[in-house]
Amino acid sequence: AAKGNGRGVHRFYSSDMHADAEDRRKLEEDLRHALAADGLHLVYQPVVSTASERITGYEALLRWVHPVRGPISPALFIPIAEDTGLIAQIGEWVLRTACRDAAQWPEGVQVAVNVSPTQFANPAFPATVMSALAASQLAPERLELEITESVFLTDDADTDSMFTRLKALGVRLALDDFGTGYSSLGYLKKAPFDKIKIDQSFVRGAAIKGSRNSAIIKAIVSLAEALGMDTTAEGAETHDELELIRQLGCSHIQGYVYGRPMPFDDVVARQRANGSAASPEGFQSS
Ligand code: C2E
Ligand code: MG
Ligand code: MG
Ligand code: MG
Repeated sequence: AAKGNGRGVHRFYSSDMHADAEDRRKLEEDLRHALAADGLHLVYQPVVSTASERITGYEALLRWVHPVRGPISPALFIPIAEDTGLIAQIGEWVLRTACRDAAQWPEGVQVAVNVSPTQFANPAFPATVMSALAASQLAPERLELEITESVFLTDDADTDSMFTRLKALGVRLALDDFGTGYSSLGYLKKAPFDKIKIDQSFVRGAAIKGSRNSAIIKAIVSLAEALGMDTTAEGAETHDELELIRQLGCSHIQGYVYGRPMPFDDVVARQRANGSAASPEGFQSS
């Protein structure tokens, strides 16, 4: 009987797996269609300087509103795009669109673009970046590429040369989700990052009494300062978190406390009305 049950469970399990694979295949097909049919769009979240309380730039974040399922999180569809190779085209679309949008913002306002490990591993990637800059006429120092620690899991020499080639273009490089990867700190000494983005898991709740997060943030900030890198605290939601982040010396903050990701038109309208001035939500003076 036990054996029979086992087989039953197994059968059930594999038909479930089949549904999952089927579901993924359908999503992939829909994603391919969305890319071709103008079904993807970018939203932009402000990055604010703690010292000046001014918006120094925006991070471009990809959005997909599925015609039947509604909004699908990039945390769900980016991995599918990675697995199927679709990320190359999607990534290029993101880069070109973000550069073109940012070129319409005031001089000096930057745009940050997420780069997936697959894009980073492609030897043609610097040419794609160069082409997006040329087409948009965006100054290279206004483009920041966000890379996660996972790029260090692959071949060392290729990774090093990719960093060198990207820096040679004059773009800025940021290490995203810092503190969540497996890698040692060793790569920080040779990878030419301009900025470390402290992962939101350290920022959220850091202001709660007894939290160890503030000690960790403090250590990351002093490490970054010693290496000449900026720090962005990601995911600050409350006024208390904002105050703490300031005290801990992070140079930048990105989080709901200063604004959620918004469509390009809203960025333009906000820049027109307030310039690059930023104020915590719920604390606006006007
Ligand atoms: P990420 O690059 O670390 O982006 C930050 C994420 O945190 C965004 O989620 C943003 O909306 C969210 N966030 C920012 N501030 C707060 C806050 O105060 N509270 C909370 N709860 N969340 C906050 P999103 O847009 O869902 O993106 C998730 C991830 O998907 C990104 O993490 C990035 O890894 C990936 N992603 C998004 N767009 C792209 C893209 O164009 N290309 C690639 N390769 N990955 C992308
Ligand atoms: Mg990012
Ligand atoms: Mg992040
Ligand atoms: Mg992330």
